[in-house]
Amino acid sequence: MNLFDVRSNQALYEQLAGAAAGGRLCHAYLFLGPEGIGKRTLARSFAAAVLCRRSGKGEPVPCGECGSCKKLLSNSHPDFYCYEGRRGANAIHIDTVRGIRQDAYIRPNDGEYKVYLIPHAEDFSIGAANALLKVLEEPPRHAVFLLTAGNKNAVPETIRSRCIQLELYPMPEPALAAALEELAPQADADQRQMALRRSGGNLGRALELLNSENADDLSRLCARIGEGICRMQEYEILTAMTEAASGKDSAAAKEQLGQVLGQLSQWIREAMLERLAPGSGAGKLAEELAVRLSLSQLEQVQLFIEEARRGLSGNANTGLLANYFTAGLMALL
Ligand SMILES: [Zn+2]
Repeated sequence: MNLFDVRSNQALYEQLAGAAAGGRLCHAYLFLGPEGIGKRTLARSFAAAVLCRRSGKGEPVPCGECGSCKKLLSNSHPDFYCYEGRRGANAIHIDTVRGIRQDAYIRPNDGEYKVYLIPHAEDFSIGAANALLKVLEEPPRHAVFLLTAGNKNAVPETIRSRCIQLELYPMPEPALAAALEELAPQADADQRQMALRRSGGNLGRALELLNSENADDLSRLCARIGEGICRMQEYEILTAMTEAASGKDSAAAKEQLGQVLGQLSQWIREAMLERLAPGSGAGKLAEELAVRLSLSQLEQVQLFIEEARRGLSGNANTGLLANYFTAGLMALL
């Protein structure tokens, strides 16, 4: 039984749940794959299997019925800890990991295990990584650490080598199409098809694309700008940016421009990842950007987009920003 929707990683989930049912557990796992592919959901489901009262007895877990499963579902399990903090390099601080380490040496409250889910293992500061390493080297018998990362190479090798590394892969197209039909019935077939193409087999991203308001208009604008960058077409970028910068009022214009810049930033990140680790599951446009632009160009474009986003949160005039952005972007290509 699944407590959470793990359909995008069903086979891997069954392996993990099977291991928990048989009591065959390791102390640390690292879930790898691009943003939105379901790493955290899979890790949480595995945690449910580990913590279920029936685990280790050869029965299917999680049962969904025991006190432990119910607490996990209601986010109130005393032996499940999920680190939710801010994102970015060095965002996971040594004090956080020290706190986790101290807690890990205390016996579980409820059952046999304590599970620590720490998403974005690329965000460890050096001190935090070293602190975690100490506990991974001599883990308490009852502690299980679940880490996730989008970029395997950004996780310190010393940590990686102490984890079971699990790669999550994009869903095959027919399975993704079926999932979208069920999970986003409000979208029409064309919209689902476009989300499917742009998501790179990533269910989380496809749903995000479909669920955002004006998803259709926005994705069309983003695609025009992305393609404009690939083909160095200033006019195409400018007209799409100008369109994004015009809303029914200035708040709507800012919101729309912010979403477009956010999507561009996402593509550039994926393109950078693709350059560092080819085959990282980037979508088509990100792949093309990775081919067209060098890593240092991608970095500069990324910084420029972030600057524009900061400008947007200030008092900038959206029309001027669109012009300024286009000219600045062209200078970097
Ligand atoms: Zn249970």
